[in-house]
Amino acid sequence: MARIAQLSTSIINKIAAGEVIERPASVVKELVENSVDAGATRIDVTVEDGGSTLIRIVDNGSGIESDQIEMAVDSHATSKIATAEDLFSVSSLGFRGEALASISEVSNMLIRSRTAENDAGMLLEVHGGRRQPPEPIGCPIGTMIEVRNLFFNTPVRRKYLKTAQTEMGHITEAFTRIAIVHPQIHFSLKHNDRIKHDLPAVDSWKDRIAHFHGRDLAEGLIWVESQDDHVSLAGYVADPSFFRSNTRMQYLFLNQRHIRDRSLQHALGEAYRGLLLHGRYPIVFLKMEMPPEMVDVNVHPTKLEVRFQDGRRLYSQLLSAIRNKFLSTDLTTRVRHGKHDDPGTAPRSQPVEATRKMEFQFGTSQADPAMIGQNSSGLPDSFRRVLDPDQLASGLAMNAPSDSNDRLDDDPFGNPQTAADLPSHTTLGIQIQNRYLVTEDERGMVVIDQHALHERILYEHFRTKVMAGNLETQRLLVPEPVTLTPAEAAAVLENQQQLQKLGIEVEPFGGDTVLVSSYPAMLRRLKIEEMIRHLVEVLLSGKESPDKRDVLDDLLSMMSCKAAVKAGDSLTTEEIKSLLESQHLCQDSHHCPHGRPSALVFSRDELDKRFQRTGI
Ligand code: ADP
Ligand code: MG
Repeated sequence: MARIAQLSTSIINKIAAGEVIERPASVVKELVENSVDAGATRIDVTVEDGGSTLIRIVDNGSGIESDQIEMAVDSHATSKIATAEDLFSVSSLGFRGEALASISEVSNMLIRSRTAENDAGMLLEVHGGRRQPPEPIGCPIGTMIEVRNLFFNTPVRRKYLKTAQTEMGHITEAFTRIAIVHPQIHFSLKHNDRIKHDLPAVDSWKDRIAHFHGRDLAEGLIWVESQDDHVSLAGYVADPSFFRSNTRMQYLFLNQRHIRDRSLQHALGEAYRGLLLHGRYPIVFLKMEMPPEMVDVNVHPTKLEVRFQDGRRLYSQLLSAIRNKFLSTDLTTRVRHGKHDDPGTAPRSQPVEATRKMEFQFGTSQADPAMIGQNSSGLPDSFRRVLDPDQLASGLAMNAPSDSNDRLDDDPFGNPQTAADLPSHTTLGIQIQNRYLVTEDERGMVVIDQHALHERILYEHFRTKVMAGNLETQRLLVPEPVTLTPAEAAAVLENQQQLQKLGIEVEPFGGDTVLVSSYPAMLRRLKIEEMIRHLVEVLLSGKESPDKRDVLDDLLSMMSCKAAVKAGDSLTTEEIKSLLESQHLCQDSHHCPHGRPSALVFSRDELDKRFQRTGI
């Protein structure tokens, strides 16, 4: 074994740099955070070649005292904490005193800074960790930091840099995560002389969100807030008609710091349960404030992950805040064009030329009703075809007052709506194409997916019964054996208790055969074996969520789906009437249990527009 030797400061800093500075975006994050901590009201970021040749941050913050500029690049030197206790009450973004030391070790760095008390500033240059003597220099109040040739002396890191475009993507994301939560600061981001973002200070958070993600999304946001003894939670969640296929648009800020937290992401998924299809993730912008001592931010080098003292309480606070808001909100899918899918993946609907005859016809394709709502707009193709996206956009987006916290308060007729006075479908509906029910309410024309609505009604009905333990079951005179694969049999037997709650009694019967002795009366239309196969499918597909409640819920959704009327089933007038009437018994009659919309509203305004009656 070689002899033990103390590492040099330079090597220590390089190792630390490896942790904190992963790529150019990390530099941007650390430096912009420093500027925010310095109380800047203007922060300009300039980047060249994806940050590999130059990153420059200029701010008008407090500046660094001339005699302290050298210390700023020392490792473990910080003005933000002084004692170990301070570590548990950090309110600034930085506190480790490592960023400048690390960055200056692996680049050519130049710092120029001046405080308001001094007439002149100070300039310090550091080349790969070697400092030049600082020199006085004339400059404005604030700090400018230039980082050139990042990783020039750590070739392995440099080699792993991706294309300028990819690195710029990461930089933009880091920039966005800070800029979006500080609307009071004027930010700009420039790449190779092109301005990518210029964000003058604005009063409202929504305006800042709109800058990054568009007016359309911003106007669809729903305000949520909740106050606990210590924790306050406030922000926006998007209407379920907006979503992403990943969690990247879940902005969570803890005491102004962007964090990532799997448990809170799970809470968001739960809050939107039944409102979004599988594989879709809600969009949220939420700020949490709590006393710094209730959270440990010192568990991750870039402070992206934190540890909460009472994570479970926060989980349920977040979940119930959103759930309660949804219960008092009309989430009926508004007919609007869909710009809200992932950029790049959203199949943009084609604008309809003005001269083309507008046909309001239903598609002749026998598309599976399960596919409805899976296009970007959440609309069946036949509807999408006749909706001119641009016209609708101008109509819908402009109406909403920009400071409205809740788009859904923006009733087209000016009546604020609450759950209590939701419109009722009093008019008799008609069935078309054996799959949709068309009716009206005071907002306009309502088109209902008969299967989705029935499914939702049954789901809520059965859920209530299961919770109360009084679901009707049917005993078999002679128990029926069903033979499965080993994995399937194991899944069924592992979930014996859950299944029992649903009225399904199964026992092992030797080998991979199970014996079924009772089943829920609602599934009497299915053969026993068929029912078990559907169950198995749910049990095996739900592997990633072992949470017991989830399994029960998934099974309930499946059972409701099987028991509900299908698209293609012709309904009698009585059945239509009873279906329309029972929707008021639902907590959420606007989405099927899988999260597809079950009703679409074509407001009178929109119909007027389609018939070009605007202004008449
Ligand atoms: P930390 O932010 O964790 O304290 P850094 O290495 O990022 O550590 O910065 C070291 C110190 O340099 C900070 O504590 C702060 O006093 C000073 N500093 C860095 N950037 C700025 C800036 N833009 N404006 C004013 N002071 C700064
Ligand atoms: Mg810092």
